[in-house]
Amino acid sequence: MDYGHPLQFGTFITPSNAQPQAPVALARLSEELGYDLVTFQDHPYQAAFHDTWTLLSYVAAATTSIQLSPNVLNLPLRPAPVVARAAASLDLLSGGRFNLGLGAGGFWDAIEAMGGRRLTPGQAVDALSEAIDLIRATWNTDDRAPLRGGEYYPVRGAKRGPVPAHDIPIWLGAYKPRMLRLTGAKADGWLPSLAYMKPGDIEDGNARIDAAATDSGRSPAEVRRLLNISGHEDPERIAELALEHGFGTFIVAADDPTLLQRFAAEVLPRTREIVAAERAAAGVVTQTRSARARALRRDGIAYDELPASLREIAIEPGDFAYRTVRSTYMRGGRPGLVLQPRDVAEAREALAFARRHPNLPLGIRSGGHGISGRSTNDGGIVIDLKAMNDIDIVDADTRRVRVGPGARWQDVAAALAPHGWAISSGDYGGVGVGGLATAGGIGFLGREHGLTIDSLVAADVLLADGRVVRASADENPDLFWAIRGAGANMGVVVSFEFDAHPVGDLGWVQLTFDATDTAGLLERFGTLMEAAPRDVTMFLILGPGSAGAPPVARMYGVVDAADPDTIISRLTPFLALGPLLEQSVQLASYAAVMANAPDGPHDGRGEPRFRSGFLTHIDATAATAAAHLVTSGSAPWFQVRAVGGAISDVAPDATAYAHRGANFSVTAIGASATFEMLWNELESQFEGLYLSFETRRGDRQLANAFPPATLERLRTLKARYDPDLVFRDNFPVIDRAESAA
Ligand SMILES: Cc1cc2nc3c(=O)[nH]c(=O)nc-3n(C[C@H](O)[C@H](O)[C@H](O)COP(=O)(O)OP(=O)(O)OC[C@H]3O[C@@H](n4cnc5c(N)ncnc54)[C@H](O)[C@@H]3O)c2cc1C
Repeated sequence: MDYGHPLQFGTFITPSNAQPQAPVALARLSEELGYDLVTFQDHPYQAAFHDTWTLLSYVAAATTSIQLSPNVLNLPLRPAPVVARAAASLDLLSGGRFNLGLGAGGFWDAIEAMGGRRLTPGQAVDALSEAIDLIRATWNTDDRAPLRGGEYYPVRGAKRGPVPAHDIPIWLGAYKPRMLRLTGAKADGWLPSLAYMKPGDIEDGNARIDAAATDSGRSPAEVRRLLNISGHEDPERIAELALEHGFGTFIVAADDPTLLQRFAAEVLPRTREIVAAERAAAGVVTQTRSARARALRRDGIAYDELPASLREIAIEPGDFAYRTVRSTYMRGGRPGLVLQPRDVAEAREALAFARRHPNLPLGIRSGGHGISGRSTNDGGIVIDLKAMNDIDIVDADTRRVRVGPGARWQDVAAALAPHGWAISSGDYGGVGVGGLATAGGIGFLGREHGLTIDSLVAADVLLADGRVVRASADENPDLFWAIRGAGANMGVVVSFEFDAHPVGDLGWVQLTFDATDTAGLLERFGTLMEAAPRDVTMFLILGPGSAGAPPVARMYGVVDAADPDTIISRLTPFLALGPLLEQSVQLASYAAVMANAPDGPHDGRGEPRFRSGFLTHIDATAATAAAHLVTSGSAPWFQVRAVGGAISDVAPDATAYAHRGANFSVTAIGASATFEMLWNELESQFEGLYLSFETRRGDRQLANAFPPATLERLRTLKARYDPDLVFRDNFPVIDRAESAA
């Protein structure tokens, strides 16, 4: 029986401490020779051996790519919850290279001598079974219930976590019927030694494991078969063990470097050859997903028809990595399939596959910070461009930079800082290039260097029909016009070219004011901001003040000057805004200002409710309406951003972002009836809105986002570039009445 597991080879090295570094050197040699895995036996009662955990940690640090495992860990001397945390830590530290080989115990006199509890063979299997459940539960932070153990591990309410870097497989060293049953029922692998097997043991072991797996609703192929062998087996014998008995991993027990070398040079490639040829002839298919994972698949997605080229980059609800891709920064999601292309060819294939599901939502994700955009969904497909994140200098003389959509703005800023350059981006480093550079990009350099789209000189766009075309002033100029403000409607931008600006150290400003005179402060901010030189771009966040304290206004932004006197002179007029409560002004690089987002997966919950509007001036009427909203306490978030300056130099019809006359962008979050009433009062003062900060998608919002001539042109282009409405999940420019007709 061949389970079709990809063939792997490992080494089994004695953890002797006679020459402390010798096992480490053999582990390094294993990596150099191309073995996939290095393993060590674990006998913590042996004074002549290193402690296996410590050795594994040391080896992890001394190697870079080889997988690691105890072979197998002596559970009775190690508390299961501690094993879980240690395993997760080592997995995180080693970049997902740890595997957990576990044993029920044995050598009970030695275990007792170390203070361990003597168990009967039956108890030892029960304890192992309980440990497996507890270890997996510790790693599962999706379940928020406190941990509970059982008879052998009386855990009472311990916290879960950490989550390992990958789905750590648990392999059991098993020989006896109960252990074999446990292996089939719960483990990810069976790890016996050939030397301990009598004739018939392999067949019997496989049969018991397969039966137990089937009884537990699993496929026998979910249990990898691993075998410790001597270094003297020949390729034909190993191939037979793979093809006839289903072993996929062979671990060579040898401490002799010459033997390891010979095996790697002669046996390993020949075995691979034989197995590959036989498998090709027999048409062996590898099933990589468990029955449990398959049960979590969503309706309507042709998972089994995913082209082979996309399988490696596909994440389904039952996959370990799913928790890291299901949600975005703002939204909770439950997509049925997330595809993470690494290049344009894969992005094109992913889109072609998504197009086979016209009735499902399709999210296009770059940095996952969409507010208007739905780059996650419920039951649909997401194309996540995160891995397409290269940042390359194309031409140092013109400061031309090519950036992948999946790059984040803090990474772009960091890459350009050594050159003394920056591209105008937003205020948050975690935002992705793809979403921001197709919508606008209102940030700290806006008044001086314009929107992000104003630095864009060309882009490669994957269109709905699968073509990849270049858009620039000379090539497909109408598409170039559209992707600068409504890009999400036209296709997937797979590469951007920007001309960066020279930007050195600048003044990073954070001032907090007493905003008791809320309306007056807002009006003064408006006047001062409009009068300020273009190297000043400030944002204002206003809140009602907590527990009886007065309302506060936090003004933050940059003065793009490295000279402290200039910075101070630019800021001095703003001291008239109101009583200053806190101040911080630092000289910093733009990269340092943008380095404000954590790494790690998004964990958004629910649906964001954002409102947006543009103001030409903050006059008394607008300031009073805004002050009503702020002081009502109904808006947990209220922000005013300076735009204008260089943004207004661009003609309104030059890009799909048309509201060039505005000097301020206003954003608020809120949901209550009071919020609605007060927002409506303020909204009457607006001239348009910024689609990236608006979550309502009605006809009125569409008309506010795009003036009539812009909207009409966008609809014409939408009909040309995306007639089947493939890209419809971010402010679609469709005429609903016409589409319904
Ligand atoms: C914390 C935070 C701070 C923000 N700060 C700013 C700011 O300072 N200035 C500002 O202007 N905006 C800001 N935004 C809004 C942000 O610019 C938009 O939400 C933007 O769409 C996010 O881009 P993303 O790639 O991270 O998002 P994603 O969620 O990945 O994408 C959002 C949408 O953009 C579209 N899209 C994504 N990638 C592509 C692509 N390659 N080709 C075509 N369409 C694509 C899709 O329709 C998608 O649904 C902020 C948002 C958040 C959450």
